[in-house]
Amino acid sequence: MTLIRITKKFDFEMAHALMGYDGLCKNIHGHSYKLFVTVTGQPLQDDKSPKNGMVLDFSLLKDIVKKSIIEKYDHSLVLNSNMPESLIKPLKKNYERIILMQSQPTTENIIIEIAKILKSKLPKNVKLFSIRLYETDSSYAEWYASDN
Ligand SMILES: [Zn+2]
Repeated sequence: MTLIRITKKFDFEMAHALMGYDGLCKNIHGHSYKLFVTVTGQPLQDDKSPKNGMVLDFSLLKDIVKKSIIEKYDHSLVLNSNMPESLIKPLKKNYERIILMQSQPTTENIIIEIAKILKSKLPKNVKLFSIRLYETDSSYAEWYASDN
């Protein structure tokens, strides 16, 4: 049995604000996020299958992540649901993609959400191995199945 990891990279634009933060990130601002999703599994050994030799067809991985993650977060504004209603209400009224999180919308907490969603969407023959989410070129968070 040979386990192989495969990774696909995605990009999305997202805005957020960190409630109560003691720096510039308390203001609404955006990032160009880079997301790396790594799954592990055995390459299929079946000469008759069009997926022969693959852990998971990259195009299928792309579809799963696009539908469940990118389409949700791309061009959205993610806020802490504990922010005052008087601020959240007009935003929700005037914009389509407002996402409220029960926790602070940091890269760390967003990657926890992404892991939760992806674990439920991946086919049974592969396992989510890790996720890496870049907020900037020099800052990223990682989620590893082995740590959790
Ligand atoms: Zn930020």
